[in-house]
Amino acid sequence: PTFADLGLSQTVLSAVADMGYETPTPVQAAAIPEVLAGRDLLAAAQTGTGKTAAFLLPLMDKLDHVAPPVKKGERGRRRKRLARGRGPLMLVITPTRELAQQIDTVCHAVARRTGHVAVTVVGGVGYVPQKQALARGCDILVATPGRLVDLIEQGSANLDEVSVLVLDEADRMLDMGFLPQVRAIVEKCRTDRQTLLFSATLDEGRVGSITDLVRDPARVEI
Ligand code: AMP
Repeated sequence: PTFADLGLSQTVLSAVADMGYETPTPVQAAAIPEVLAGRDLLAAAQTGTGKTAAFLLPLMDKLDHVAPPVKKGERGRRRKRLARGRGPLMLVITPTRELAQQIDTVCHAVARRTGHVAVTVVGGVGYVPQKQALARGCDILVATPGRLVDLIEQGSANLDEVSVLVLDEADRMLDMGFLPQVRAIVEKCRTDRQTLLFSATLDEGRVGSITDLVRDPARVEI
């Protein structure tokens, strides 16, 4: 199939063209229609398969905006609207800073077309800029588990409006001992959310401890 065959909007298709993607990868072809249909997902996909775009393209296509897309010169107005501190509406949790930065890059490439505001918070760097960014408000939050739990505990991150949750590289998060943090984070999200779980493998022994977080999921195994 082509990206257009998968049901993506013209806005997101223009972002796909910006990024130079011509043909969907297998995980993208399988996952995008399911995600657009609103289903939860259990996906077995490693880094390098195109999994980041497999979740960001359909989710950002469907995601309501905190503020409408802005044109150049309108940034001040957007800032003011965001000062109400809304969001995030969508949360991506990923195990490492490097993965968070890769997701952030794709997210911003799509956001240039959709107008979403994305913020990334990771450990090992200062809290102040992250707290300021969260206070301004955002549509999409990309985070590593430890830093996000800290920000929640300090009252700087509020997940009450999160209706879309992505658990990226779930097996690695569990290997790194993040199960308590992941559970604490998910408990703060809406119960009627759409949840996508990506892992290198879907073996019960590897990810069985968190597959209860998805509801009636479509399974994608490449
Ligand atoms: P990921 O598995 O998300 O880490 O993506 C691996 C690499 O594949 C990244 O460098 C992406 O930019 C690239 N990529 C993702 N989807 C496509 C596509 N449909 N066509 C070409 N490159 C892609």
